[in-house]
Amino acid sequence: MKKNTLTDIAQTEIALVVPVFNEEQTIKLFVEHVHQVLADVKWQWNILFVDDGSSDQTLTILKQVVDSDPRVGYIALSRNFGKEIALSAGLLNARGDAAVPIDVDLQDPPELIVDFVYHWREAQVDMVYGVRTGRPDDTVAKRRSASWFYRLFNRITDTPIPENAGDFRLIDRRMIEALRQLPERNRFMKGLYAWVGYTSLSVPYSRPARIAGESKFNYWRLWNFALDGVFSFSTLPLRIWSYIGALIAGISFFYILVIIAQVVFFGRDAPGYASLMSAILFFGGMQLLSIGILGEYVGRLFIESKQRPLYFVIDTSDDYVDVR
Ligand code: UDP
Ligand code: MG
Repeated sequence: MKKNTLTDIAQTEIALVVPVFNEEQTIKLFVEHVHQVLADVKWQWNILFVDDGSSDQTLTILKQVVDSDPRVGYIALSRNFGKEIALSAGLLNARGDAAVPIDVDLQDPPELIVDFVYHWREAQVDMVYGVRTGRPDDTVAKRRSASWFYRLFNRITDTPIPENAGDFRLIDRRMIEALRQLPERNRFMKGLYAWVGYTSLSVPYSRPARIAGESKFNYWRLWNFALDGVFSFSTLPLRIWSYIGALIAGISFFYILVIIAQVVFFGRDAPGYASLMSAILFFGGMQLLSIGILGEYVGRLFIESKQRPLYFVIDTSDDYVDVR
């Protein structure tokens, strides 16, 4: 049995979903480049920009592009909600048989979309994702910390995510509909893709440098992004304290036996403030740490329990209404 019913290639439509935040320098370059690359493909395509509350000329430029190019549309969010939410808004509103989330700075080479579509149709999978073989633009520290993150994440969750895969991928309609059913506010997209499951295939590519403008992700933002990923997809950090507690209690019990034996059999006084002090400090630290981790989860529960909408839309091009 065929897993997904594919339409005729000429009827197949792919939506490029492009979150943009203060990208006045890159939008036109991106659209031009995509037109060059996709000029001869047999399938249909469109571009949906999601303006993530930009404060520069991004929206003005989007309007210009939309006026001169019938393939392009946009949705503008009411403020900066962050890339994950902007992506969700785009995926929920994308039109076509599959969507391709792609960065506007040409770090996700549009050339690869042709391969994505080819593999998608050949292998009949629900998702084709790009895996970075090289990221010469990134610093050693960024690459190293990314690799640590993936290793830790995959060790402590039930739904591992492929290492070195970004948001750049092709997702078919069936999977988009599945993603639509995940209502959480905390949207660590890579984790969500993995969580919904379905079938997938990877395509390697080398990630080039940004074509213009600057990266929006500094280390603090990346750190928080990593925390979101871990705490949204694993309860191990919560549960591990019972084991650590049991281990320490066990060790302490034996230590107490040793002290009693020393006093009873050798008449030696239990020495020391130093050992007492270090035990107190150690336990104090452990308790603060475990309370902090509890706090990470309680904080997220708090946000989710408010059940607020994911985002608000302030403006769209004529051919889009927010369908969420
Ligand atoms: N982006 C966004 N909202 C944000 C930050 C970034 O929509 O709050 C978009 C940005 O415009 C770009 C993509 O996400 O299209 C990737 O951002 P960036 O190139 O800054 O990230 P990096 O490639 O450095 O990881
Ligand atoms: Mg980039």
